[in-house]
Amino acid sequence: MRLVLLGAPGSGKGTQAARLKEHLQVPHISTGDLLRAEVAAGSKLGLEAKEIMAAGNLVSDEILLGMLEDRFSRPDTAGGFILDGYPRNQAQADALDHLLKRIGQPMDFAVQLEVPTELLVERIAGRAQAEGRADDNPESVRKRLTIYDTQTAPVIEFYRQHGQLTVVNGVGSLDEVFNRILEALAPVKEVG
Ligand code: ADP
Repeated sequence: MRLVLLGAPGSGKGTQAARLKEHLQVPHISTGDLLRAEVAAGSKLGLEAKEIMAAGNLVSDEILLGMLEDRFSRPDTAGGFILDGYPRNQAQADALDHLLKRIGQPMDFAVQLEVPTELLVERIAGRAQAEGRADDNPESVRKRLTIYDTQTAPVIEFYRQHGQLTVVNGVGSLDEVFNRILEALAPVKEVG
């Protein structure tokens, strides 16, 4: 099963992806996690991305595509994957579409987690206290939400037009949301 999770910052993509990974037994590919690992390792790419991420801006499409090509070339993705944090704009959606077709692994399904903005802001504020992520300060959060509305939300239409989109209500307990996602995926054959 090749699945992409869509949703605003704070919508719970990362948390649900971690659970889905156990359930589906496929790797969870989070572009945010991949970038944070580069920053933590102090690599050239990490040094380039650090300030951009802290300000809540998007790292370049070129860097992201290279990182993903690399990740998809690893054998553990052969049986499927859960993608989280990508695509974030139309150019990334097109690039991903081409890349996956080229490697013979087209996307099966897109799930959008829908959460009202007030709740997103509240959740990120809670996470900021708990985790201290450099980009969870108010200014960066505002920037990320604006970028989501202007650049990422249109990507949802791309998956809708391809007949791959299911919208899931992201408000509720972790279990409730997880079960809604499983229900949404139930018609897809491989899900047990
Ligand atoms: P969130 O969805 O909560 O904002 P992520 O962990 O998905 O958190 O992403 C954190 C940051 O990493 C983004 O604000 C951005 O700077 C960078 N990033 C992650 N994915 C991408 C992407 N696909 N394109 C560009 N930048 C990205």
